[in-house]
Amino acid sequence: MNKKQILLEQIRADIVSNDICPDLAKMAQNLVMGDGNFDAEIVLIGEAPGKKEDEQGLPFIGAAGKFLNTMLEGAGLQRSDVYITNIVKYRPPNNRDPLPAEKAAFWPFLLRQLQVIQPKVVVTLGRHSMEYFVPDQKISEIHGQPQHVTFDDMTYTVVPLYHPAAALYNGSLRATLIDDFMKLSTIITNLEKEKEII
Ligand code: URA
Repeated sequence: MNKKQILLEQIRADIVSNDICPDLAKMAQNLVMGDGNFDAEIVLIGEAPGKKEDEQGLPFIGAAGKFLNTMLEGAGLQRSDVYITNIVKYRPPNNRDPLPAEKAAFWPFLLRQLQVIQPKVVVTLGRHSMEYFVPDQKISEIHGQPQHVTFDDMTYTVVPLYHPAAALYNGSLRATLIDDFMKLSTIITNLEKEKEII
């Protein structure tokens, strides 16, 4: 195991030993920490695991995940290039929306994951992960636009996107989301240029 893997395993162990969201934990089959490249430039953050994700312990492997894979490929990316996780790491019963208290309980662990991976861009998928990074904003107004936010002395570039499950069966959201995915590599290139100027 390399250093990042060890640190990420420690975050998993801390969620268990701190008994985070015990009610969700009791009903879940797996704690779904995340999947992908620990050195990724892009970390994608969804809402919470669904049925398939809970069964297999991996994020975004159902219908929304297949759509996500297609959009990544369209943007010239493989799943193995990025890291994918969720704000809430246990499946809420019957896929209900995660509660504010559940999101708040998992938030410090999500920040620790980001501190380990150190991505160039954080992509939030849907409003549940967006509202923690960019509060009091409407996804319809800021989707696809990079936002610079600071937590615990770390500055992140956050790109809010619609959730793939919301866009799956909605033609216009679908087109918008595909379009926003295509912008990600340009956003990263522009960030690198800005850094060179500074
Ligand atoms: N939806 C999410 O937000 N996360 C998953 O892992 C799967 C579906």
